[in-house]
Amino acid sequence: MSATRVLVLNSGSSSVKYQLLDMRDSSRLAVGLVERIGEEASRLRHTPLSGGGETREWTGPIADHEAALKAVSAELAKDGLGLDSPELAAIGHRVVHGGKHFTEPTVIDDAVLAEIERLIPVAPLHNPANLTGIRTARQLRPDLPQVAVFDTAFHTTMPESAARYAIDVETADRHRIRRYGFHGTSHAYVSRATARLLGKAPEDMNVIVLHLGNGASASAVRGGRCVDTSMGLTPLEGLVMGTRSGDMDPAVIFHLARVGGMSIEEIDTLLNKKSGLIGLCGDNDMREIRRRIDEGDERAQLAFDIYIHRLKKYIGAYYAVLGTVDAVAFTAGVGENAAPVREAAMAGLEQLGLLVDAELNAVRADEPRLISPAGARVAVAVVPTDEELEIATQTYALVEENA
Ligand code: ADP
Repeated sequence: MSATRVLVLNSGSSSVKYQLLDMRDSSRLAVGLVERIGEEASRLRHTPLSGGGETREWTGPIADHEAALKAVSAELAKDGLGLDSPELAAIGHRVVHGGKHFTEPTVIDDAVLAEIERLIPVAPLHNPANLTGIRTARQLRPDLPQVAVFDTAFHTTMPESAARYAIDVETADRHRIRRYGFHGTSHAYVSRATARLLGKAPEDMNVIVLHLGNGASASAVRGGRCVDTSMGLTPLEGLVMGTRSGDMDPAVIFHLARVGGMSIEEIDTLLNKKSGLIGLCGDNDMREIRRRIDEGDERAQLAFDIYIHRLKKYIGAYYAVLGTVDAVAFTAGVGENAAPVREAAMAGLEQLGLLVDAELNAVRADEPRLISPAGARVAVAVVPTDEELEIATQTYALVEENA
C-alpha cells in the first residue's frame, strides 16, 4: 500500500503547530503544539486521535526547532506514527508569504527555499520562522517530499486594479510593494466548502468570505478565483482585528512620528499589537467584549460598533466588486461562533438580499450551515475553516501528481 499520511507543520518564531492526517479519508491521526521554543519552560501538547488516546503534556527546555520537531516525532512514535514511518507521504508546510511568484503549492527544493528567503523583507516576522521549520524537517527526512502551501497563493489571481496601491509604480516595483493578501488557504477552502454546501460548482458562483479570527480578512471570490481581499502588503490592512488597526489614513503614521515623537518600531507595535479591539476597549476576545456589552460597558459597545461598521463597509465594497453575490460565508473563531457579530454585520442589508434567520443564526454546530431564511436571494452561511486539511489536501494532491 502506498504512503497516505501527511504531516502539516505551521512553524512560528517560538512555536510549532502540527497535525498528522490520513488522506485516505482525511481523518486526523494526531494534533499538537510546541510552544515557547528556546525558553526554559517550553511546552508540548500532543493529542493522538486515531486510537482514542489521551492528551499528553510535557514541560521542559526545548532549545530550538530541531529539538521541537524531534520531540514531536518522539510523541508521534509512541503511537506508531513517527516521522520515520513509511506511511508518511509528505510534509506540508504553511508558508505565510509567497509573493507574486508562488501561485500554487510547491514542492520544496533549494531554489524554492532561496525564493522564500528572498521574500523575508516583505514578511520579516513570518517567513524566517517558516524557513526554520522547513530546513529542520528536511534535515530529519531528506528523502521525503516537502511542500510549501502559501497564505498568499489564492490571492495571486487578483487583477492589477485590486493588487496595486496608487503610488509611484517604479518605487512600488523596486520594493515589491503591492497587495498580496493573507489567510488565502482559508479563503480558498471556505469558498469551495460554501459552494459544496449549496450544491454548486465553485466556478458557478460568487462568494464573499469573511474570515474573522484574531486576525481578520474579507475576500471577494468570483467563479472560484479571488478578485479582491482586504489584507495588503502585510496583514495590517483592512478589517478591525483583535490587535491590529486595519485601514487608516497612512498620515496617522507621519503624525505619530512627527508630533507624537514615536519611533517606527513603536508605531509598528502600536498598530499591530495594541490597536483593533484591544486598543479600543482593552479586550480582543469577542466573548469578553459581548459579556461587557451585556453589562452595559460603553467602551466595549463602541469597539463592537467600530468592528461592525468596518465589516459592513467591506461587505458593501465586495458586493460592488462582484456585481452579483450568491453567498456570504462567515468563518474562523469570531465568524463561526459569534452570532451577534453575524446578525449585526447583516442588519439593514435586506435590499442587497442579505437576511439572517435569528433561529438558524443561534444554532451551534461544527458543520457548514445556512443562516439565511429559506428562499433568500443570497445565501448567508457559517462555514468552519480547516486550513490544516486544506494544506494536507493540496500537499497530497501534488505528491500524487508527481509520483
Ligand atoms: P487566530 O487563528 O487568528 O488566532 P481564531 O480563528 O482561533 O484566531 O479566532 C480566535 C478568536 O475567536 C478569539 O480571539 C475570540 O475573539 C473569538 N472566539 C472564539 N470562540 C468564540 C465564541 N464562542 N464566541 C465569540 N467569539 C469567539
